[in-house]
Amino acid sequence: MDYTNPRTVDSPKAAIRKLKVLFDGGEQASIDDGKGWNGWSVAEFEWYDVPALGIRWNGSTQNPNVSAVGNPQSRGLATWFVLPAPLADAVRTRIKEAPTVVHDIRPFPETPEAIALGCKCSIARKRDGSPAFDSDGGPLYAMTKGCPIPSHN
Ligand SMILES: [Zn+2]
Repeated sequence: MDYTNPRTVDSPKAAIRKLKVLFDGGEQASIDDGKGWNGWSVAEFEWYDVPALGIRWNGSTQNPNVSAVGNPQSRGLATWFVLPAPLADAVRTRIKEAPTVVHDIRPFPETPEAIALGCKCSIARKRDGSPAFDSDGGPLYAMTKGCPIPSHN
């Protein structure tokens, strides 16, 4: 189960700055939640220095009907569809009503992939040992300073 983490979609690098993911619906699974909130993302960024909103399908390594890279893509690199300005406010308003999704920020701390990259972070845990989540539903991490995984900093 994997998909293209929207926090890593910053191509073309000359065009995109200050990427901030506003909604991450996770993997584009073949079975969705029935409400349509799965499998796509919305982000805000500066597009050639102009504030913009972008959307994309996150893709999946499991769903044979979609690519792991998601859509749109350019020469195999994940990209954003930059929303025309007249639609941006409507999308911004609607995603405020999005259900809480447990964001899957890969690679997690404590996974073999993360450890191989030199990550020494861990997942914050409650007293009973279960993972702790923030108010947005994202897992809380006990970060280590200077972790080589950008999303851990
Ligand atoms: Zn780390």
